[in-house]
Amino acid sequence: MGIEIGKLKFDGSRKFDMKGFDTADNLGVDGKQKGQELLEEYRPQLVEWQSKLYADGGRSLLIIFQAMDAAGKDGMINHVFSGVNPQGVQVTSFKQPSKPELAHDYLWRIHQAVPPKGMIGIFNRSHYEDVLVGKVLDLPKAYGLPGAGKAKFWDMRYRQISDFERMLTENGTAVLKFFLHVSKEEQRKRLLSRLDDKSKNWKFETGDLTTREDWDAYMKAYKDAINRTATPFAPWYVIPADKKWAARLAVAKILLDTFEDMKPKYPEIGKAGRKQLEECRSALQPGKGEGKAKETPKDTQPTKVEGKGKETPKDTQPAEAGGKDPGKATDVTATSGSQTSAGA
Ligand code: ATP
Ligand code: MG
Repeated sequence: MGIEIGKLKFDGSRKFDMKGFDTADNLGVDGKQKGQELLEEYRPQLVEWQSKLYADGGRSLLIIFQAMDAAGKDGMINHVFSGVNPQGVQVTSFKQPSKPELAHDYLWRIHQAVPPKGMIGIFNRSHYEDVLVGKVLDLPKAYGLPGAGKAKFWDMRYRQISDFERMLTENGTAVLKFFLHVSKEEQRKRLLSRLDDKSKNWKFETGDLTTREDWDAYMKAYKDAINRTATPFAPWYVIPADKKWAARLAVAKILLDTFEDMKPKYPEIGKAGRKQLEECRSALQPGKGEGKAKETPKDTQPTKVEGKGKETPKDTQPAEAGGKDPGKATDVTATSGSQTSAGA
């Protein structure tokens, strides 16, 4: 039996509530081994879809991961995207905003990291931090932002986020939002293992314990953020994340279903393009006018005659805030954080 993901989706048609949500749900899968087998089936399909998205070059996919500490965002990105061509995926980790970022509106750094056409963009944390940690600690008030401290401030932010996501989807970027939902008890175990296991010590931060003390406030902030920004165009998926294998499998399946809907395609080469390719083929036969052939592909760009072409993602790569090479598709903006390729 396949994995049940329907109940994880929130698109505004029903409310999400923490109560009654089983963070250790198997989602109908018969145990870890079966789950891992299924993921092995899904992975090559994801690889194929990513390749089509890149070749098609008409749309992009933005995948947002939000979670409490130690919920498994990093492992999720590593496992689900392993095998996917790193040139087609860019990961951005959003940390506390830097001074230049704070001097702009909160969506400024986010917009710069949105994937260009043909690319998958993964956000490890996102603009949602501005209605999560931002709300719990009332950061806008500390920053002296207009309207901060008033009840309507958060309504305004949810609306702005929804408007922003609507704009992205209307301009060819599909948006998927995942909340990896772990229980407080599971987080306790994982934080402890970061202390017990020397190879994980570097991951432990004392600040995580402070955040943990505010657990209930964070859960309320998550619930509100999800309910206020769940839309048909940018749905939320609440992923039971106490079992890593189940969480990874659920995300992989949701991605596959999303690609099925998007249906990116390899560009079709029309008659004229096909003719050009045949000419190139004969020019490349041993001993046949190779000098002439050298010019032909560059001049006529046969593979781009009909398709939108692979050049788009590279050419439109967002500018590099952190000073790295702007032409590098897989290693871009550090937004007080870092951007790297997935599955590397
Ligand atoms: P891990 O799960 O491995 O701990 P992480 O995503 O928590 O990874 P960290 O470097 O530990 O990565 O933490 C990033 C921190 O940056 C988080 O505490 C997050 O709340 C904070 N942050 C991100 N965006 C904002 C924002 N807009 N305003 C305030 N804090 C933010
Ligand atoms: Mg952390």
